[in-house]
Amino acid sequence: MLNIMLLRTEGVEDFVYLSCANALKEVFDDIHVELSRESVKTPGYPYNARRGQYNAEGFVYYASSFSRPGFYVLLLAHVDAYVPGLNFVFGLAIPSLRAAAVFTHRLKINVNTERYLLRVQKEVIHELGHLLGLAHCVMPSCVMKFSNSVFEVDKKELVFCSKCASVLLERGYRLKLF
Ligand SMILES: [Zn+2]
Ligand SMILES: [Zn+2]
Repeated sequence: MLNIMLLRTEGVEDFVYLSCANALKEVFDDIHVELSRESVKTPGYPYNARRGQYNAEGFVYYASSFSRPGFYVLLLAHVDAYVPGLNFVFGLAIPSLRAAAVFTHRLKINVNTERYLLRVQKEVIHELGHLLGLAHCVMPSCVMKFSNSVFEVDKKELVFCSKCASVLLERGYRLKLF
């Protein structure tokens, strides 16, 4: 059983939150997704005023503070985030913390609701893939492909390629969809 604690900050709408839970259940077999009625506060300490962005790593540490034994934590955060050396990131996973964050701000710019939802779902599945031990994949359609822009997010699919799926299977994670 894969136990996921799905959290969100203020600014992430109910339908986005719920649709990510559904996407996780559509892709992974034998998964339990725990949702919270309350959103979590956007923490102040990862904010870098000089850049006007949040430090992604700080956010993932924050996400991990909500964890319980046996759970992976995924936090949807409606902010713009970076890691040193990159202008921005759509998400970051730290497997040793069993926690990841997906940053929705840039995924939402100039896009209709349907595409926005799909982008967030893809990034959620991508970051969980990292938490379960997957690296980036070269297959353009694979959800584990690294995305440098929203166009690249749009190009990949919501599912793992057969190679990534078989790595997950070897580790005991079954998929419904790949
Ligand atoms: Zn990645
Ligand atoms: Zn792949």
